[in-house]
Amino acid sequence: MIAVDALVKRFGDLTVLHGVSMNIGSGEVVCVIGPSGSGKTTLLRSVALLEAPSGGRIAMNGRVIATAEPTRAVKRAAREVRSDIGMVFQHFNLWPHMNVLDNIIEAPLRVRRTPRDQAIAEAEALLAKVGLSDKRDTYPSQLSGGQQQRVAIARALAMHPAVLLFDEATSALDPELKREVLLVMRALAAEGMTMMVVTHEMNFARNVGSRVVFMDAGEIVEEGDPAAFFDHPTTDRAVRFLRQFE
Ligand code: ADP
Repeated sequence: MIAVDALVKRFGDLTVLHGVSMNIGSGEVVCVIGPSGSGKTTLLRSVALLEAPSGGRIAMNGRVIATAEPTRAVKRAAREVRSDIGMVFQHFNLWPHMNVLDNIIEAPLRVRRTPRDQAIAEAEALLAKVGLSDKRDTYPSQLSGGQQQRVAIARALAMHPAVLLFDEATSALDPELKREVLLVMRALAAEGMTMMVVTHEMNFARNVGSRVVFMDAGEIVEEGDPAAFFDHPTTDRAVRFLRQFE
């Protein structure tokens, strides 16, 4: 579904991604792990079309959607697929002045032009799915971090994304709140949602991921089956990284 090919990203003089290539197949849960500063978030944000490549390209279903010097066709393709790519951020980013329901229906109403009744019915179903049916009329500030993040997941799902990207979605949460969010993510994975997950949760990567991508210093150092990676990492860098979780 998504093909990242030789992606380079620079911020000024700093090269953050040194020609990264990876694929995400339909129904896969690709977990991106690695030390802080290794470029995981930059890779994810590039796939989300929130960062423009300095080199290389990203394609979705065979159409190029990002290059360093996008042609009009590439820009058009990016516009057309943008709402197929859902994103869940570390800091939830809910709109504080809107209640939970309005947070969820805003984009379907405005971007997808979904009729209001239908958007509300879908939002209610999504709230049930993330276990927050009773919070429909509540404002974000009255919710726990875990609840806010589950609303953010419902909001992303309301756009019927083809792929859902998670950027350290549980990093800001206390352990018990992490758990409730991870359970929702796990349920989505079990339903066959295509997901790219930047995470520090090694148990999630091992048990839920269909593939693990290990990054260090702006490159993919190892990639493969989670059990094989965690039990038998083949590079020193991965061994050293995993040691901290023992
Ligand atoms: P990770 O997610 O693995 O912690 P990031 O992708 O967040 O890594 O960051 C990789 C490197 O890129 C870091 O050195 C970070 O400081 C740098 N970086 C990220 N975003 C920017 C930016 N907008 N401007 C300048 N440097 C950035």
